[in-house]
Amino acid sequence: MVGSSNTDMVIKLTRIPRPGETVLGGEFFMAAGGKGANQAVAAARAGGEVTFIARVGADDFGRKAVAGFRRDGIRVKHIVGDQKAASGVALIFVAPDGENSIAVAPGANANLNPVDIKRAKSAIAGADVLLMQLEVPLAAVKEAVRIAWKAGVPMILNPAPARPLNDDILRHVSVLTPNETEAELLARTRIRGESDLKPAADRLLAFGVRAVLMTLGAKGVYIATKERREIVPAFKVKTVDTTAAGDAFNGALAVALAEGRPILEAARFACAAAALSTTRMGAQPSLPRRREIEKMMSRTSGGMR
Ligand code: ADP
Repeated sequence: MVGSSNTDMVIKLTRIPRPGETVLGGEFFMAAGGKGANQAVAAARAGGEVTFIARVGADDFGRKAVAGFRRDGIRVKHIVGDQKAASGVALIFVAPDGENSIAVAPGANANLNPVDIKRAKSAIAGADVLLMQLEVPLAAVKEAVRIAWKAGVPMILNPAPARPLNDDILRHVSVLTPNETEAELLARTRIRGESDLKPAADRLLAFGVRAVLMTLGAKGVYIATKERREIVPAFKVKTVDTTAAGDAFNGALAVALAEGRPILEAARFACAAAALSTTRMGAQPSLPRRREIEKMMSRTSGGMR
């Protein structure tokens, strides 16, 4: 795993403050977050052996984050403690209807660089799969892609947060996992309904990606390869908070693919993990363990057609 680590500082409020306004009476909680870290934890809990390559600050938030990764059995040897930048922080306001407003200070995440990645070369080259997102500098992502490609390591790219990419990254990716917004941006097309999924996925496959797994929220995931096009429906659960659903999906997907499961079964495993994560509040605290995921998989209703 190459990616970001943040501390999420969340205030639940009656409404989101406007510029210049103070809203009293909120409720505060803090949780480990950041797409890279969330997906690393998701993969570890789903049964993967995870090495996380990242940067945190040499501060309390960074130390706490790393202690959390250790508790989840993640190898932290390649997490650099940045002496100059603070750990990444996200300040999040959440209103009762679930609407949110988020400010992110990437801090040390913005300093993750090709030298950091080169130092972790043997970990990347020896992996069954490399999973990345776009919350760290593209130069770092590109270096990881270069090492993995040379070593024949399959890559999953979760292109989040949405940002334009050129095809020298995309053509090396085995599995691309955008949500609808990210797919629209990368494919340069609009997705208004189910009939728009195929043309959008076709455009993404044309970059040289082997499989596109487009996540569709509560609708599930659209799978597109050269041979197959189909929707794996989401598992029906009592959803309370969809934060990190995509992260749960990607972490679990990486584990299933590393285990050599076929894409359809891997997608179903990922959907089960993602559905479970929506039944609990927060990012990392909501991520399920392998036993729960397998139990959900064995449910007859929902999921498989
Ligand atoms: P992101 O959070 O990255 O935008 P999505 O919202 O598409 O990603 O969600 C990722 C995956 O999480 C979906 O493919 C689906 O399997 C699962 N998921 C999301 N919302 C729900 C929900 N309400 N119920 C069940 N599963 C869900």
